Amino acid sequence: MFDLTGKVAIVTGGSRGIGRAMCEALAEHGARVVVGYASGEEKAREVVSAIEAKGGQAEAFQVDVSNGAQTEERIADVAKRLGRLDVLVANAGISIDGLLLRLRDEDFDRLLSVNLKGAVASSRAAIKVMMRARTGRVILVSSVVGESGNAGQTAYAASKAALLGVTKSLAREYATRGITVNAITPGYIDTDMTAALNDDQKKQIAAAIPLGRTGKPREIAAAAVFLASDEAAYVTGHALRVNGGMYV
Ligand code: NAD
Repeated sequence: MFDLTGKVAIVTGGSRGIGRAMCEALAEHGARVVVGYASGEEKAREVVSAIEAKGGQAEAFQVDVSNGAQTEERIADVAKRLGRLDVLVANAGISIDGLLLRLRDEDFDRLLSVNLKGAVASSRAAIKVMMRARTGRVILVSSVVGESGNAGQTAYAASKAALLGVTKSLAREYATRGITVNAITPGYIDTDMTAALNDDQKKQIAAAIPLGRTGKPREIAAAAVFLASDEAAYVTGHALRVNGGMYV
């Protein structure tokens, strides 16, 4: 089950956190993984080395998803060079938190350009290749906050809720081409994105999670492996909650 041997998978923002765990898990299941990074080539190379050390296949590629033209060009190049593209995980994301009255337009624009427009540009590039192959898997990384909302996260929640609309629309648009499009909505996961919270805040968050703890990047990666697999061929337009029961 979940054998990805021979498949090529691109993960944007793959150099750390959830993206890194996804790269490692996809490679463990046999995929050749392309580790996307915006800056910090060294970290991406570390991921590649870790995968290769376990006998997997990986390479790093630079792409800033907020630059739509660059994203489309780079993803097309990778697919051309490797001869195929089976899986895209649009994982790159940022958070800029703050109450609405303090939300600056430029921050809102920046957030949407990475989280929403970046995922759409990545999907467009990948789907162009997948359409020719008449098969493919697109996985968008949304968030529990896109479903539940959260005070202080209007901009972030807007971007992540929008991805759910994108997921459903693309699922309908490309089903006849054999391409499935799904989202994952992680709950609170221990990564750099959430590391800034103090211990009290973390305790409060854990108390609000029915399973009583925060999640691990590997637990999100497992969902990506499933959605990328042949076994998930009949799943499309779905948002898979991996949130410890935080939102049901
Ligand atoms: P992280 O900050 O550790 O990783 C984010 C990744 O995105 C990094 O590799 C970063 O370099 C990359 N990135 C940022 N801007 C980019 C750009 N313009 N172009 C390309 N790459 C860019 O965070 P994470 O927690 O691993 O988050 C991964 C995804 O999961 C994000 O989309 C995030 O919104 C989502 N998410 C995280 C949590 C959580 O609790 N950590 C919860 C729900 C959803």
